Amino acid sequence: QSSTGALPPGRRVDELVTAAHARYASDDSGVVADYIPVLGQADPSWFGLSVVGVDGGVHEAGDTGIPFTIQSISKAFVFALACQAIGHERVHERVGVNNTGLAFNSVIAVELNAGSPMNPMVNPGAIATTALLPAATSDERWAVVCDGLSRFAGRPLELDDEVYRSESETNHRNRAIAQLLHSYGRLDADADETVDVYTRQCALAVDAHDLAVMGATLADGGVNPLTGEQVVPAEVCRDTLAVLASCGMYERSGEWLFEIGLPAKSGVSGGIVAVSPGKGAVGAFSPRLDAAGNSVRGQRACAYLSRALGLNLFASA
Ligand code: GLU
Repeated sequence: QSSTGALPPGRRVDELVTAAHARYASDDSGVVADYIPVLGQADPSWFGLSVVGVDGGVHEAGDTGIPFTIQSISKAFVFALACQAIGHERVHERVGVNNTGLAFNSVIAVELNAGSPMNPMVNPGAIATTALLPAATSDERWAVVCDGLSRFAGRPLELDDEVYRSESETNHRNRAIAQLLHSYGRLDADADETVDVYTRQCALAVDAHDLAVMGATLADGGVNPLTGEQVVPAEVCRDTLAVLASCGMYERSGEWLFEIGLPAKSGVSGGIVAVSPGKGAVGAFSPRLDAAGNSVRGQRACAYLSRALGLNLFASA
């Protein structure tokens, strides 16, 4: 399949999504995250794959309707909202766009870089990004996040209260990160309140279908291909996808780009969104993770689909 032009005809995409699902459904490598206690209750056999094209075509296999919390994948869409609100230059200056090479919740990355949050896909950068959203109160900030992510998904997203509470009781490290950023003058809102909004944004419930729609909106110059709404401007999608390409897959971002060639973001509950600009997006969900925190089946299925659908950005033939 060529890497230029549109996705293959719909029926062919259906076949390939079904084939990718069948191929990796029995892969039992990896472990379910349990550092947020409730996440450990996920059924490791869940596996959903959804492809949504910029033409609005939907191609799915497996558990695409099972809800899970979006976790770190929220970082991509909150970053897009911040870019829209305050612009390219200011997010660059306040948050940064370089990979840390360290874990997503590293404190030392901040210390080593003179207080810089480094990039919006690690926790310090994501917390700093949430603080940049224009809002007078914490409730207003949460409303901006919830409404914005819902417009990407094309439906009202809801908070998973159990996961929110479970993470709120155990997120001491994120609170420490926010205080550290504050001490460096790098946080544009109250530290504890911002962590609370960040914890909520991570606990929004989505399914694999939602992730594909959200990703397809980034692939489609900011227009949600199902609702037709212009959610963010095209230049915001360009900025967001550039950051996802360099920083979206934890410490494996380089390997992911080398193997799969797509901007993508993963989260510790087992979701992955991979975006092919101008074509569409893959939403994958399966809770077993590799050591970096990326869904094992999700990565393998994305690699298969990137090849079979001709999605790799760097392939010219
Ligand atoms: N809410 C999680 C945290 O801040 C998100 C982690 C992730 O998905 O990478 O630890």
